[in-house]
Amino acid sequence: MSGGVFIDGVWRVGAGAQATSVDPTTGDVIWRQSTASGVDVAAAVEAARKACPGWSDRSRDERIAILRRYKDVLVTRTATFAESLSRETGKALWETKAELGSMAGKVEASIKAYDERTGEHASDTAFGRAVLRHRAHGVMAVLGPFNFPGHLPNGHIVPALLAGDTVVFKPSEETPLAGQLLVQALEEAGVPAGVVNLVQGGREVGQALIDQEIDGLLFTGSAQAGAFFRRHFADRPDVILALELGGNNPLVVWDAGDAEAVAALVVQSAFITTGQRCSCARRLIVRDDATGQAVIDAVAALSERLVIGPWNSGQEVFMGPLISDRAAAQALTGAKAMPGKTVRAMSAVEGLSGAFVSPGLVDVTGETIPDEELFAPLLQMRRVGSFEEAIAAANATRYGLSAGLISNETAHWEHFLKRIRAGVVNWNRPTTGAAGTMPFGGLGSSGNHRPSAYYAADYCAYPVASFEAPSVTNTLGDIKGLRE
Ligand code: NAD
Repeated sequence: MSGGVFIDGVWRVGAGAQATSVDPTTGDVIWRQSTASGVDVAAAVEAARKACPGWSDRSRDERIAILRRYKDVLVTRTATFAESLSRETGKALWETKAELGSMAGKVEASIKAYDERTGEHASDTAFGRAVLRHRAHGVMAVLGPFNFPGHLPNGHIVPALLAGDTVVFKPSEETPLAGQLLVQALEEAGVPAGVVNLVQGGREVGQALIDQEIDGLLFTGSAQAGAFFRRHFADRPDVILALELGGNNPLVVWDAGDAEAVAALVVQSAFITTGQRCSCARRLIVRDDATGQAVIDAVAALSERLVIGPWNSGQEVFMGPLISDRAAAQALTGAKAMPGKTVRAMSAVEGLSGAFVSPGLVDVTGETIPDEELFAPLLQMRRVGSFEEAIAAANATRYGLSAGLISNETAHWEHFLKRIRAGVVNWNRPTTGAAGTMPFGGLGSSGNHRPSAYYAADYCAYPVASFEAPSVTNTLGDIKGLRE
């Protein structure tokens, strides 16, 4: 296999510019290919369009059989695929193995969701029957982010294929190897030519893709890009848009007892995946008293103990690098510019590549902070006087992806649940907890009310209601107001 594009079942060299993927742990180039040109992108969409009727006409069981083979390929390749993901993103092996597990698990979860939410349902009527069916939209463009470069595009691609859609996939320019491995697994599973096509490249390739005649854009990425797509498709209500975007997620601690136990939940929420999860807590809100101070102290102490290092260092690491040296430089600048009192400074890590940073903690009490997502391990901490103030502070964001409450009081939880505005709201669990068996999506700038995960089935097919009588009967008698 050679080439940066996979179009109509053939791998070939793209006609676009050369691109590379760099291992953030070492700075080594691990992938080098020619990207897609505008002509390649048009050819990929044409191949997907041509393959559409044949794929959507196949029975549900035939499509399921191919996707189950894909699951088997992923299971067989878990070790090598996870290692490649770790090499390309710097994420710890325990994380990338879990990512492979989520990708394989997506197949059965999507079959269940498809049948439950978008399958076929019939009921008898006086004239025959009423039938609800779901039809595929057609050609879906899938644009993936870098932070879960396998799991997140997979979360769009599997339900789309199951529904009978065909796909043109562009992985993140930071993680082209992950995208290539995903498509190779689908190819090995026997997905017919043209049903899944791969184009590699940066935003300009994404732009060329959305300028084609597509039927849907399934996107996971930043709120900025999401806002751009909303504007781009403002006059195209016929193109289905599923936008899974970022967050500025709050975590409130109130009457929670054991500060160490609280700190463990806070640190997992804020610093897992080196702060590069859309659901990571960015803002910690605590009581302005000794209990709040105890939480801040415990979080600072635990942050100090986190093992930061290369995924293949031989020791179990909690945090790897950010995706690139550039991302680390941006994070360090962002952390430095944040008003407030530094409790623990984010800094470069001695002896490691420029992509590694240590977790940062800033006390922003009384400060006005821009409502932006800083996609890195930086936690803002705010002290407030009452639980109502805590909820108001938590809701003071244009985003609404995830939110959490850490508290031993059921009454607090019930009140929090009623007032908080977010699509994922957790209690005494990290803000990052999610499951393929539940919807995942956010409000406000975090999405467009088309949650993914279990609800991905909904945006991959449209409903058709049919009233069916098996033969022609004379309905003249049903017409009121006829002259004799
Ligand atoms: P990104 O928006 O920079 O890029 C995502 C993809 O979109 C890439 O393939 C990129 O090339 C493409 N793209 C970006 N701008 C484009 C444009 N103007 N035109 C065409 N294509 C464009 O996101 P990222 O940095 O890769 O990922 C991190 C972001 O994703 C964070 O904001 C994070 O919160 C968010 N995210 C959200 C979820 C969710 O489920 N809600 C999950 C993971 C990540």
